[in-house]
Amino acid sequence: MSCAVCQKHWEYFLDVYNPNPHVVWIFGTIAYITIVAVIISGSFMFMDITGVPKRLRKYKLQPGTNEPLTWTQLKKLLKTAFVNLILVGIPALSVFHGITVALGRSVDLRTLPSLLEILYTIPIAMVSSETVFYYSHRMLHSKILYKTVHKKHHEWTAPVSLAAVYAHPVEHIVSNMAPFYAPVMLVRTHIITAWIWATIVLMGTLHDHSGYHLPYLWGTPDFHDFHHQKFNQCYGAIGILDWLHGTDVQFRRYKAKQRAALQDSDK
Ligand SMILES: [Zn+2]
Ligand SMILES: [Zn+2]
Repeated sequence: MSCAVCQKHWEYFLDVYNPNPHVVWIFGTIAYITIVAVIISGSFMFMDITGVPKRLRKYKLQPGTNEPLTWTQLKKLLKTAFVNLILVGIPALSVFHGITVALGRSVDLRTLPSLLEILYTIPIAMVSSETVFYYSHRMLHSKILYKTVHKKHHEWTAPVSLAAVYAHPVEHIVSNMAPFYAPVMLVRTHIITAWIWATIVLMGTLHDHSGYHLPYLWGTPDFHDFHHQKFNQCYGAIGILDWLHGTDVQFRRYKAKQRAALQDSDK
């Protein structure tokens, strides 16, 4: 059962604006993703550009890199982010949405999803998204695809938040958009569930690329940061498939060494 007050307000909104559901699914989702990405990456990159607040500098994973971020670097990031999020995002999402509708998904926006529906969708989304991300990312590390596609993303050996979408357009579709959209297609979620899922994905990837391991924040950015340093380790986002395929061995050794060094310094 969904929240009655939310449902009432939602129906009022739909009655007043009577939006075309396909337009909301495509343009609304792209607008939502872009706004959330700007807010989250903007917060991290404010620290990269200004060095403020100073007390958080100690949480930088690769100290001394991209501090401060230059105007040239920022311009390069913003240009690629705009191309990928908007110019690539709209046609790609139109295709994904078209396929899902052709497969029988209802585009009805009216009935909000129940809390239970949202709760069971998230773990399914995490597993299916990780599977698509891990294997597509590993494929991008094949000799030919690395040279022609993935090298652009790896220009950032010490990434900053918005570098999450600094990628060749093919990579943006295959390795950013497809892992986000796979569960939306699989579960045929309501748009609100899809937007909640998009928020979780963006929080994860923008933090993973931020270059900071801030306390009390979600995720373990060290894992993907290590991938940008070493290239052949930590292909996934969560890490289960890396553990299964043994592609996190160097990372686990590195963390064990770090822990041992910390224990020695405490003695
Ligand atoms: Zn990356
Ligand atoms: Zn990579």
